[in-house]
Amino acid sequence: MLNIVLFGPPGAGKGTQAARLVDKYNLVHLSTGDIFRANIKGETELGKLAKQYIDKGELVPDEVTIGMLESEVEKNKDAKGFIFDGFPRTTVQAEALEKFLKQKGTEVTVMLALDVPEDELVKRILLRAKDSGRADDADESIIRNRIKVYNTHTAVVADYYDAKNKFKQINGVGSIDEISERLYNAIDNQ
Ligand code: ADP
Repeated sequence: MLNIVLFGPPGAGKGTQAARLVDKYNLVHLSTGDIFRANIKGETELGKLAKQYIDKGELVPDEVTIGMLESEVEKNKDAKGFIFDGFPRTTVQAEALEKFLKQKGTEVTVMLALDVPEDELVKRILLRAKDSGRADDADESIIRNRIKVYNTHTAVVADYYDAKNKFKQINGVGSIDEISERLYNAIDNQ
């Protein structure tokens, strides 16, 4: 299996690039943010709970997120591999994912981290807010909080994969095509 963790701060372009990787490598895309938003739209219990955190730019609690992610993996028994987008976002989530995949006889192949400077992130997210309809995209103070949460809780997850020699940093500034090429090269030259 090819299991990719697509990593990077909010607005780094994970969703855009994940869609391309899915097509090229025939993978199942699991975006925790997308799954939460679908639940919010469907007014499920999970959606109601997640909304309280997402609207403030905070993380949804680990046990909720981990349970949801595992059940999504279970729904895709025939998958050739997965792109995890927005997960793991804490070290606890990274440890849970490792244990879970191990039970399934597989593992994370590589973490690809998109590197984009903070001012560029805020610009991109505010631009995306015009179409995304996401409340957490439209307010600069919520965006800054998401970046702060990323820097304090999430950035360390890179060290977890680096220690296992599974971490690759990708320059996330450039055209969408250029960035895709960098990702393809990183995957193909494993
Ligand atoms: P972005 O990366 O642009 O912030 P996402 O769509 O990945 O957007 O996530 C939106 C929100 O969903 C996050 O700010 C957070 O509240 C919640 N979320 C997504 N993934 C996780 C996760 N793995 N753990 C906890 N909360 C998460």
